[in-house]
Amino acid sequence: MQCMALVEELRAALGPNAVLTDTDVTSAYQRDMMPLAPYGSPLAVVLPTDTEGVQAVVRACAAAGVPIVPRGAGSGLSGAANAVDGCVVLVTTKMNAILEIDADNRLAVVEPGVVNLDLRGAVEKNGLFYPPDPSSYDWCTIGGNLSTNAGGLCCVKYGVTTDSVLGLEVVLADGELLKTGRRTVKGVAGYDLTKLFVGSEGTLGVITKATLALRPLPQAPVTLVAAFNTTEAAGIAVSAVVREGLVPSLMEIMDRTSIEAVETYLKTELGAGPGCAALLICQSDAGAETGMRELAVIEQLCTDAGAELVYATEDVSEGRDLLTARRAVLTALEVYGAWLTDDVCVPRTRIAELIAGCERVSAEVDLRIAVVGHAGDGNMHPTIVYDPTSEDEFSRARKAFDEILAIGLALGGTVTGEHGIGKIKREWLAREIGPVGLRVHREIKRALDPGNVFNPGSMFSL
Ligand SMILES: Cc1cc2nc3c(=O)[nH]c(=O)nc-3n(C[C@H](O)[C@H](O)[C@H](O)COP(=O)(O)OP(=O)(O)OC[C@H]3O[C@@H](n4cnc5c(N)ncnc54)[C@H](O)[C@@H]3O)c2cc1C
Repeated sequence: MQCMALVEELRAALGPNAVLTDTDVTSAYQRDMMPLAPYGSPLAVVLPTDTEGVQAVVRACAAAGVPIVPRGAGSGLSGAANAVDGCVVLVTTKMNAILEIDADNRLAVVEPGVVNLDLRGAVEKNGLFYPPDPSSYDWCTIGGNLSTNAGGLCCVKYGVTTDSVLGLEVVLADGELLKTGRRTVKGVAGYDLTKLFVGSEGTLGVITKATLALRPLPQAPVTLVAAFNTTEAAGIAVSAVVREGLVPSLMEIMDRTSIEAVETYLKTELGAGPGCAALLICQSDAGAETGMRELAVIEQLCTDAGAELVYATEDVSEGRDLLTARRAVLTALEVYGAWLTDDVCVPRTRIAELIAGCERVSAEVDLRIAVVGHAGDGNMHPTIVYDPTSEDEFSRARKAFDEILAIGLALGGTVTGEHGIGKIKREWLAREIGPVGLRVHREIKRALDPGNVFNPGSMFSL
């Protein structure tokens, strides 16, 4: 009865079409792209079109004691946007306006539902660049990117989402609107609340607006690809590039399983050769001449590390094709079965050990594990392939997922470089940050959301 009253209140505030309760429709909003994470059935899905609408939803839900799960596109890989039973899923995709592009001050102001690639395209027309580029950039939203502190292929040079954020507007648990940050290049007034909300995975408030820092559009990239007969050799090459002080705009690694999957899926040869165990793809966007000089040094370092083949090109379309292949890995793995992708970040000197560990786990659980990732920052995505119709394979995949996290931590790494904690890595967060870290997380959550309205049970329990 109380639930019906809440739904009526939401309909009155947002309009009838913005509140969905038909379970055939709401089921599409129950979960994200992570098959391991638990999810429940929402009471309703709401699609507000403005900040006032979000405030009305938050006030109504807080008063009724009904949890809210904020959601962008649902492309997440940690169950962070998964519904809990009886919640209201607050979807931001209808708040998708690019409100301002200020070319002189190199910033953009956007609503949270803007798709990453749409923003990149819009600022590019002004000769500007929004760096964060998750592989899902053609459908994930800026709100989701902010809330997971998303990374991508060019983090090695340009950092993750938080490095491109100047300020936010956030609807708090009491419905008030908090403005954080600034529009200036510098600014140190008060606590850095912007960074607190970035990566908070919808547990502290709903982001309704973001002021983002832009950069000048980089030069067309030049590309290098290097093939290695052992993953160790590829790891040594990555370490050497870092040690040399080079900062390519991209440095990605694909192991043999990823290469084979992509070649089968795209029906093309990547030119890696039959003995290839790992492929490194590097780019420099420093301008053709400087870029090719940078690549020449990387080429030498790869050769010294034992590369069987190194090839550098100024041809932008060749570079684009290689990156298309890299971005296609997850989809390509579907030629073998369903995939479950992990996300660990290790010191860059330990990448080869992580890959060797994944090979051990693969043999132990008898499942294919492809390792692909952002070698330049040590952020690897070992991806386990399994038969979704087999319970046994699913449980072996789950085991492998956890073992890879343990290996990552043992190598001095972290349990997530970019996908977040969500509902699958809660115990791993506790393990990584320890009891004091967890206590501080809980105190922040209680201070900002005393009624536990936002995304309860995600990241950690209260
Ligand atoms: C094929 C594939 C490739 C991927 N590649 C990458 C990659 O390279 N790098 C990377 O980082 N991720 C990657 N991801 C994961 C995912 O795309 C990112 O985590 C992305 O940032 C999620 O955006 P979204 O709009 O889909 O958010 P959702 O999945 O809908 O939500 C993610 C989190 O953000 C919260 N949230 C969303 N909007 C708001 C808001 N306005 N206010 C408060 N909280 C909010 C949700 O509650 C949830 O906790 C990939 C996913 C897929 C399927």
